Amino acid sequence: MRMDREQVSPDRLWIEDTIRDFIATSPCNTMKDESGEAAWDYALVGFASGADPIWQQYKEYVGPFHWTPWEVFNQHSPEEPAASEALTVISWILPQRERVRKANRRVKKYPSEAWARIRIYGEAFNAALRRHMVKRLRERGYMAIAPMLVPNWTVVKSERFSYASSWSERHAAHAAGLGTFGLCDGLITAKGKAMRAGSVVAKISIQPTPRPYADHRAYCLFFVEGTCGKCIDRCPVRAITERGHDKEKCRQHLVRTRKYVKDTYRFEGYGCGLCQVGVPCEAAIPVKAAREALERGELPPAPPPLA
Ligand code: SF4
Ligand code: SF4
Repeated sequence: MRMDREQVSPDRLWIEDTIRDFIATSPCNTMKDESGEAAWDYALVGFASGADPIWQQYKEYVGPFHWTPWEVFNQHSPEEPAASEALTVISWILPQRERVRKANRRVKKYPSEAWARIRIYGEAFNAALRRHMVKRLRERGYMAIAPMLVPNWTVVKSERFSYASSWSERHAAHAAGLGTFGLCDGLITAKGKAMRAGSVVAKISIQPTPRPYADHRAYCLFFVEGTCGKCIDRCPVRAITERGHDKEKCRQHLVRTRKYVKDTYRFEGYGCGLCQVGVPCEAAIPVKAAREALERGELPPAPPPLA
């Protein structure tokens, strides 16, 4: 819940300020086009305990290859091991800027140039932010690792999900109270689902962000009210249906966008995200009751298990 700056621990304030400063000052924060505009304006930040049972639930739901914070941290920090209770997952959301969302709203099959630039250069900034946070935390005396950047992070074929990875930024963000999943698999945050997410795992004690939802789909109109389904029609390859998101169809389309981006925009890139824009959850929580409860700072009863 929202707290005044005086109530927040100095470490948490320092982490939030460090992320904010990097966004404001890093030369990596660029779309690399003639506009000279930054890729990102700001971040939402959340915290989850390494001992939160949700990590084990993810493992059971996604598969044994999916890491808990304890597993990934201790694999890559043998010189400074830590118990689950000693770890905090620091997660952030980088909401897509209005100009980028607007550009992608207009397209019907392939990504706009702005969106494709964010997919490549905006994500390069996100990787730089992960490295920066690891470095700054270590300098402050807190061992940290970025799960997406460790050499054995991988994507595996999964019977249940087509494919799945050993760490998911969206799932980390969900655990850290930053959003819930939509029909298209995207994470709907307080600033919508047009965003990119990042995280690091650190041996530091920060009070976890309470999850302001009792269900992992609480912000999607389709699941809550049985309405919407707008992301179904936005997808150019029908990879979204009322049954959910077909990851393999989506992946195949992403592969095809490489040629389009190179031929049209003249750089090596790819992307899609058509289902993230031109929909009610693009830049806000579309479920009115959930949005208003969050604005009032209300918490639901303890959430049930994910699966
Ligand atoms: S567009 Fe509608 S159905 Fe699709 S994720 Fe958003 S709220 Fe849910
Ligand atoms: S990213 Fe593109 S291809 Fe994949 S589900 Fe969304 S609209 Fe469809």
